[in-house]
Amino acid sequence: MVDFGLFSGVIAVLLLASIAARHELLSEGGILAALLVGITILWFGGWVWFLLLASFFLISSGFTKFREHDRRKKLAMREFAKGGVRDFWQVGANGALAALVAVIYHFLPLNTLYFAYLGIIATVTADTLATEIGVLSKEAYLLTTFKKAPRGLSGAVSWMGLLVSLLASSLIGVSALLINNYFNFTGIDSAALVLIPTVAGFFGALVDSLMGATIQVMYYCKKCRKPTERSVHKCGTKTVFYRGWNGVTNDTVNLLSSLVGALIAAGLYHALKGY
Ligand SMILES: [Zn+2]
Repeated sequence: MVDFGLFSGVIAVLLLASIAARHELLSEGGILAALLVGITILWFGGWVWFLLLASFFLISSGFTKFREHDRRKKLAMREFAKGGVRDFWQVGANGALAALVAVIYHFLPLNTLYFAYLGIIATVTADTLATEIGVLSKEAYLLTTFKKAPRGLSGAVSWMGLLVSLLASSLIGVSALLINNYFNFTGIDSAALVLIPTVAGFFGALVDSLMGATIQVMYYCKKCRKPTERSVHKCGTKTVFYRGWNGVTNDTVNLLSSLVGALIAAGLYHALKGY
């Protein structure tokens, strides 16, 4: 493990947090969660792990800011309570599992765990980008019925969103390759480093949409006659239960899908390498 020292680590974590604060990517709670996740991953996983987290952060921040004033994007974000500024639980749902895997890896440094981590990072990057860019697409379809659905609705996918999600997970694969080469991580071949996160992230994000279309709890605003993820609609009306499982929020779905991404990546590595 390359050690850049504690001081530079603290600087790096604070630098990312200040970018998030300055561009209003995270709420105060979101910044707190990001600090906890960032420090845990740096502490237990080391620089290779931390730089992958930083790649996710920089890639997804860029796309969150991309056309943020677009009417379609604003509308979808307001309606479905995701994207844009992220709070404590949104960051926590995306980061908790990654931090946990880093802690386990510290005591049990298996490559399989490293790939599980790559799978998580690829999935959350793919999901974030697919949402941020997918809401800009002209048409979206519900993954379960292939019927037209509002952009930004959980479970709605668009061709652009799918393409972006594939691109996003492959970006994490390429980052993994570059970071590993720089730090001379031995024993992992380049093709696996690029391809495994690409596949895991794409399917992890797809499972995210699938769960969004099925088990995620959705409410309905009787006044506006619209489905929403909010228990109180933007118009101020208290919404009623519409579908899904009680308590399964968008955050729950994000956590579960990153687990799926982790299992796909670990499984692929295990199948290819055997340990
Ligand atoms: Zn309403």
